[in-house]
Amino acid sequence: MWGIIINRFKQGFRTTLSYPKEVPSFPQRFRGKPVLNNTADTPCPINKSKDPLGAVASGKKLTLDMGKCLFNEDLKAICPKGILTYSQDHRLAVSKKKDLILQGEEVKLARALNEKTRKIFGRSLKLREVCAGSCSGCDAEIQAMGNIVFDLSRFGIQFVASPRHADGLMITGPVTKNMELALKKTYEAVPHPKIVIAVGACAINGGPFQGGRDVHDGVDGLIPVDLYIPGCPPHPLTILDGLLRLLGKLENKENNFR
Ligand code: SF4
Repeated sequence: MWGIIINRFKQGFRTTLSYPKEVPSFPQRFRGKPVLNNTADTPCPINKSKDPLGAVASGKKLTLDMGKCLFNEDLKAICPKGILTYSQDHRLAVSKKKDLILQGEEVKLARALNEKTRKIFGRSLKLREVCAGSCSGCDAEIQAMGNIVFDLSRFGIQFVASPRHADGLMITGPVTKNMELALKKTYEAVPHPKIVIAVGACAINGGPFQGGRDVHDGVDGLIPVDLYIPGCPPHPLTILDGLLRLLGKLENKENNFR
């Protein structure tokens, strides 16, 4: 017992209470928003073994689909050095799928919900999480948002057990065929107005399971999505940033986190 108390004193204060005013620094190995150097003439060759989802496309301009990006080092390696890098910017969530396609540095970050819906959800948002065939990586990051570091509930956002008590769904995984009916029924059980959040490459496009016989390649072919949060898995602060933008609490914060 004394050991636990002494350890708690040693650990000190951990909650990132200054967030979102100040964003905690990320470790050097963190891979945030990809940055494309589109001034370079050399195109990135197509490389199915290092970019199996086809995230990088070399047309007139080089593009990168963050929804298909697994944020791995292999992806960087297919382009000549310096053309594709990862920044320390954790802000990646968007409202429309087409906004996931990058041409340079700019990301059209998620827009706030309309005023009427914000009035309903702004101070208290209850979400039901649905794991629709994920590897559990994204679910672990969602769960981490509830720990003392991120302390999600201080923003009035909580997870609930029943969709009937929820204002929306947070979905992970590509949606396996086995989960299709369960997901649709869960969606129908949430009262109007409701929101749907797709977390991770799988929920957006199928991720590493894309094209699989028993999966749906993402949520939006089955139910409408209001917020896309890319990553494999996304960092808890990336998810939190998306939620706060949706609720209109971060709209004007355009700090540079590079
Ligand atoms: S996006 Fe990555 S971490 Fe998330 S469920 Fe899919 S494979 Fe797992």
